[in-house]
Amino acid sequence: MAERMLKFTDVPKAMPEKREPEARRTDFNEIYQEFAREQAAVQAARCSQCGVPYCQIHCPLHNNIPDWLRLTAEGRLEEAYEIAASTNNMPEVCGRICPQDRLCEGNCVIEKGFESVTIGTVERFITETAWAEGWVKPPRPRRERPESVGIVGAGPGGLAAAEQLRRKGYQVHVYDRHDRVGGLLIYGIPGFKLEKDVVLRRWRLLEEGGITFHLNFEVGRDASLEELRGRHDAILIATGVYKARELMAPGVGLGNVVPALDYLVASNRKGLGDSVPAFEDGSLDANGKRVVVIGGGDTAMDCVRTAVRQGATSVKCLYRRDRANMPGSQREVRNAEEEGVEFVWLSAPEAFVGEDTVAGVRIIRMHLGIADATGRQVPVPIEGSAATIEADLVIKALGFDPEDVPALFGAPELKVTRWGTIRAELATGMTSLDGVFAAGDIVRGASLVVWAIRDGRDAAEAIHSYIQAKIGAAPVKLAS
Ligand code: FAD
Ligand code: SF4
Ligand code: SF4
Repeated sequence: MAERMLKFTDVPKAMPEKREPEARRTDFNEIYQEFAREQAAVQAARCSQCGVPYCQIHCPLHNNIPDWLRLTAEGRLEEAYEIAASTNNMPEVCGRICPQDRLCEGNCVIEKGFESVTIGTVERFITETAWAEGWVKPPRPRRERPESVGIVGAGPGGLAAAEQLRRKGYQVHVYDRHDRVGGLLIYGIPGFKLEKDVVLRRWRLLEEGGITFHLNFEVGRDASLEELRGRHDAILIATGVYKARELMAPGVGLGNVVPALDYLVASNRKGLGDSVPAFEDGSLDANGKRVVVIGGGDTAMDCVRTAVRQGATSVKCLYRRDRANMPGSQREVRNAEEEGVEFVWLSAPEAFVGEDTVAGVRIIRMHLGIADATGRQVPVPIEGSAATIEADLVIKALGFDPEDVPALFGAPELKVTRWGTIRAELATGMTSLDGVFAAGDIVRGASLVVWAIRDGRDAAEAIHSYIQAKIGAAPVKLAS
């Protein structure tokens, strides 16, 4: 084994080819090409097969990374896939959009002197190969169980739970207010990070495995939580967080000052071939406009890069801290800069100017002051530094909070935290309502796909134990 592995001293880190910015700017296709088989094997062989693999410890799913890297280096791809899929319901998605620099790759021990192993790209390669070879199979249980589980929300958290429960034989019903499955994977995250076919084929697979989807079904409107509790033996709430944080500034109500998710959903729907009136009438289309995006997270990065592709005449991103202190991934900032986005660091909007529609953003420059209780330096306005940036479309990307789920679901006894996220017991994953569980962003607050998958898998285990205890079966822990 050692002969084949440990190549990090001889073989430099290499990523698959990235499309040229000029080509990227004209479409919504992913920007990274696929590894060729030999490249994947060579890059996987850089792994030093650590006794204590920090990559695995820092992957929220504790993926068995060293093993699938070794099998990839040996050309045993089907086995590599089996191992990758045993801990992750969407390895091809995580391989594409996990912030690996903060998780597995950022903790790879060879990172210090030699640059990390390209873990995410190999994970994607293994799973894409598995799809192409027909190794990815629907979740077909060995035996059916009569008990049913209702899952509210078809995002990664809900889908991971649905697959795990179906594998155990439960009758799984997923309810979502959208007309397609995937949550933010389908309507939030743009195609240049995650092409939509990748999400759609997972949907088809889960349907083939016998999971029932009830789409255009909004809990709170089409049924109350109580009604769903009456239909199923257990319920999982995985509804994500969607209330956009607002900006308190004069002129924020002007036309063409829009929330990020409205903008991204319109663009994604357009890409999927839907008719989108707000896009067609131009109000959510950046074409020919000077665009200003406010925010420094991943959502802001997705907005600026979408605006470039829609043909904006200029795209600026305002963020009140500096590059080193922004929450978004540095990789995405580099990609945005390559595509022509201008970052206006250390600046915050003071007011929006214009008659009916926005014509400009008055900004004030900031400097970073002393750190607050969280350890982050607080941005402090610099007096007399105001300036105006011209804009025809302003996109607010300041983050998301949970909606008022107890009120929306007609379930005031469902307990939430002071941030509005659903309170779920750490030990059991259960909420304050018997048999009602919760997972993903609605429990954590806005987070990551990989954490939603992890939570969904944990919730599936908890639901299984709960139902088995309820029906009086001896506690069983089935292998996932
Ligand atoms: P969601 O994906 O939000 O899914 C929740 C589902 O519940 C939705 O389909 C919704 O329609 C449904 N729902 C809500 N209320 C109801 C109701 N009352 N009745 C029925 N259905 C309902 N993470 C990464 O790891 N990498 C990234 O690059 C990344 N980029 C992102 C870009 C953007 C623009 C955004 C907004 C987020 C991004 N994230 C990224 C975060 C990631 O998408 C989320 O953490 C993840 O999708 C959360 O999964 P979830 O299943 O908890 O919720
Ligand atoms: Fe890394 Fe994410 Fe894959 Fe885990 S799931 S190995 S963090 S890319
Ligand atoms: Fe391989 Fe890096 Fe993980 Fe060590 S930390 S096992 S070198 S990928």
